[in-house]
Amino acid sequence: FEGVAYEYPQRVGRVLDGVDLDLEPGRITALVGPSGAGKSTLARLLMRLADPTEGRITCAGLDLRELDLELWRAQVAWVPQRPTLFTGTIAENIALCAPGAGRTQIERAASAAGAREFIRRLPGGLQTPVGEGERRLSAGQAQRIAIARAFLADRPLLLMDEPTAHLDEESAGELTDAIERLARGRTTLLLVHHPLLSALAHDVHEIRDGRLSLPREDDPAEGTAELAESSGVAA
Ligand code: ATP
Repeated sequence: FEGVAYEYPQRVGRVLDGVDLDLEPGRITALVGPSGAGKSTLARLLMRLADPTEGRITCAGLDLRELDLELWRAQVAWVPQRPTLFTGTIAENIALCAPGAGRTQIERAASAAGAREFIRRLPGGLQTPVGEGERRLSAGQAQRIAIARAFLADRPLLLMDEPTAHLDEESAGELTDAIERLARGRTTLLLVHHPLLSALAHDVHEIRDGRLSLPREDDPAEGTAELAESSGVAA
């Protein structure tokens, strides 16, 4: 993000302003800030659900606006605050972005996401129907299905919005472990309300009223340039 500003068309005033942010390959970057600070808006720009009003977002030196939209989005695994479970089995929900996945791969993703145990306890296991009018999963269980989905999707850029919101401490702890496993080897942006999760992050930025405060690092600019050059993350 280079000097990124954003103003919603239907609202006067910038909700992001002068945002400079590097998401370094292979690292977890956390964005911590109160409700309304602009975290989700920043994620929307990264997903190209909207484009900056000012400034630009680049990947490997290319403006996201120059990239093929579908190709760019195929690089990103998005784990939202409240993941949607579609009508179908748990296995189908996990394999949403990898329809060719076999049972072993699905089971492996469920294990990595810390979902294997609760799935085993369901009457139909992986074949249990969920979604509209079917069994309702708890918020934490749905999050773990979404994390398993992201494991199987296996994309280089991971974007997680408030992953432990609405969870008790034990579930949040289990999710934290799953997130750490998922983030390994990917470039991750975590949007968080509470500093708890930011302990996972290599870089933590605070966002308030659409502005970032700079992280305290020795020489972030130097590391960024080297990593960007050696990165294979480009779409
Ligand atoms: P939360 O933690 O509650 O999700 P956030 O940090 O993600 O908050 P945003 O959702 O990015 O914050 O909102 C930033 C600002 O933009 C807020 O003032 C919000 O009211 C405003 N905003 C968000 N979405 C829209 C929209 N579609 N139209 C107009 N204004 C919006």
